[in-house]
Amino acid sequence: MAGPGEFELIREYFSSRFQTGARPGGVDSSVVLGIGDDCALLSPPAGKLLATSVDTLVADVHFPATADPYRIAGRALRVNLSDLAGMNAEPLWFTLALTLPESNADWLEPFARGLAETALSYGITLVGGDTTKGPLSITVQVTGSCQTPLRRDGAGAGDIVFVSNQLGAAAAALPIVLGEYSPSETQRQQADTAYYFPEPQLQLARAIGPYASAALDISDGLLADLGHICEASGLGAELRLDNFPVAELARSMNAENALETALTGGDDYQLCFTVPERHLDAIDKLQLPITAIGRMCKEPGIRCQLNGKSWLPHGRGYQHF
Ligand code: ADP
Ligand code: MG
Repeated sequence: MAGPGEFELIREYFSSRFQTGARPGGVDSSVVLGIGDDCALLSPPAGKLLATSVDTLVADVHFPATADPYRIAGRALRVNLSDLAGMNAEPLWFTLALTLPESNADWLEPFARGLAETALSYGITLVGGDTTKGPLSITVQVTGSCQTPLRRDGAGAGDIVFVSNQLGAAAAALPIVLGEYSPSETQRQQADTAYYFPEPQLQLARAIGPYASAALDISDGLLADLGHICEASGLGAELRLDNFPVAELARSMNAENALETALTGGDDYQLCFTVPERHLDAIDKLQLPITAIGRMCKEPGIRCQLNGKSWLPHGRGYQHF
């Protein structure tokens, strides 16, 4: 089906669904002027920092070009919200730069629906963007407000390293998402959730905010991302992998390599964070879905132990070049 022209498209799919001041869940006085003028006019919360981040998803690099547009839209926003979570920032506004091969209502309608539903559930509102013609690519830029930022450079020697929930599901999901593997119904559902509906850990970030010394969201694999905390903090880490939280899908796809997948696979969008020993009781009392996996140390590099023996993974996480 042929779709609308540029301005009609912006009105139909974006500005009409994200009106100035209409924040999901109520009126948003922080948006003085939303979509439609040269710029949006935004009023930042007094006394807070603004946290901003951008991520581009390119068709056939970051998602299959033929994937369901409803899911793609939600994923694009979720991976950006995850960066806000990694910084302990509260979602405020986002912009969308969309490059489309054609104006196609059959694609745009579910895309806009996925975007609006996801925005609603995380309390973030679309305030502008850009629409161009070319190979399918989706760029989302998010802004949040931040009181207690969780940076990568704040870890101290002796701090305990934690991860949230389970790891490895998104990497294990890839062959299923790409149609290269015939899954069971359970595996299909787990893959769909892990790959297209990652849960930005905003609440968890809020809970650990007062106690954590450093944090980030795990997008490129735990070892690679913990490596960033180590480097930024001028430290290393020693990990004990015996009770590492490996996702069930990683086990059911490849039991032998499940731990490896959980340590090096990307796209899970869980949090990795460090906590000074004096705050461990406070963290414990919160009863969060987190696992202590090791300790920061002075010696640079990451060393792993499994069953009392040193253990080396083959991969080191996703690198773009
Ligand atoms: P300009 O030419 O001044 O950059 P545009 O014609 O690109 O303006 O966009 C007109 C308005 O529509 C602007 O407010 C812009 O932020 C908004 N907009 C354009 N594309 C999108 C989009 N994909 N999502 C949300 N807002 C958009
Ligand atoms: Mg423009």
